[in-house]
Amino acid sequence: MLLNTAAQHCASGSMIVSACVAAWRDQSIKAIRFQQQVQCQAHQQQLHELGPDISQLKPHLQMQWDQAANAHLSNVIIKQHSARKVQWVCDQCPDGHPHLWTARVYSRTQGTKCPYCAGTAVCAHNSLATLAPGIALDWDYANNSLTPHDYTAQSNLRVCWACCTCQHSWKAVIKNRVQDNTQCPECARKARQGQPMPKKPTVAEAGLHYMLHWDHERNAQDGVFPGEVTLGSGKKVHWVCHGCPQGLAHRWCVTPDHRFGGHRQNGCPCCTGNRVCKCNSLQSLCPNTAAEWDHVKNTGKPDDYTASSAYMAWWSTSLRGSWQQTIRGRTGYYLRYASKSLQQNKALP
Ligand SMILES: [Zn+2]
Ligand SMILES: [Zn+2]
Ligand SMILES: [Zn+2]
Ligand SMILES: [Zn+2]
Ligand SMILES: [Zn+2]
Repeated sequence: MLLNTAAQHCASGSMIVSACVAAWRDQSIKAIRFQQQVQCQAHQQQLHELGPDISQLKPHLQMQWDQAANAHLSNVIIKQHSARKVQWVCDQCPDGHPHLWTARVYSRTQGTKCPYCAGTAVCAHNSLATLAPGIALDWDYANNSLTPHDYTAQSNLRVCWACCTCQHSWKAVIKNRVQDNTQCPECARKARQGQPMPKKPTVAEAGLHYMLHWDHERNAQDGVFPGEVTLGSGKKVHWVCHGCPQGLAHRWCVTPDHRFGGHRQNGCPCCTGNRVCKCNSLQSLCPNTAAEWDHVKNTGKPDDYTASSAYMAWWSTSLRGSWQQTIRGRTGYYLRYASKSLQQNKALP
């Protein structure tokens, strides 16, 4: 049906070319663009700019084709068993980061998957620092060359640790510590012998990184101070982030144990796109896309979702009629988190 719609516009001449091309840029139509008999000249020019012919690739590979990075290949036809090394992009990161990698076409055809999703490449969503910050606290910066951000929590590498509680040094495989949540052997020995366990460091003692989002004002109102709350505390405290490009405060409440103890959402929920704010909503970042929101079939408004949301929404335009697609699939906004600063990013139309 989509194909017919596009073909009709094509046949009717170049007047609606920009609308057609806009539709082609849409992920769901991209896959079929080369199956169309394209007649008008303007279309052919646009197709040229869209890069090589990837219509012979499996549909999921067409979706992961990095159009911008591979555009220089222009007019060639990419065959399924091509030995060409090209760039791929995957939008399945649970934290909304882009997964970009290069691989030969034939190896993808044979079934190799996104290395970040497979856990063989490190992304912020699978790093030791993100998934097990409580264990990363024992990282021995003096004796390891890299940091907890540079290894996945599933890494088989044996590294040096320096206990944040008793300063004992030892070596262990990252994955083993994370899976079994093993603590420092010296502290464990003391615990077995019934000796009093030294306490985990307080948020203040643990240093700047841990203090970063501490909400001094609200916590003080509750009589809670960073020099008294340990990293393992199960008491909910207030956090605030001032990184909102719209100047709003991002506030949330979780326990230090939850924030630093190996759970996922330990960053600011708004800045990581997990909670909606004016700075990341579909309505404010992509007003044009938001205008195609189907207010009858969808739950909620474009204000209620982030532009990078995985919500499967209904859309409707006079050109395409009604269809269903994820918000992030339409906006491409999972790519927003590629850059460290939100302000550096150009807003998409
Ligand atoms: Zn990721
Ligand atoms: Zn991936
Ligand atoms: Zn220890
Ligand atoms: Zn905000
Ligand atoms: Zn924030």
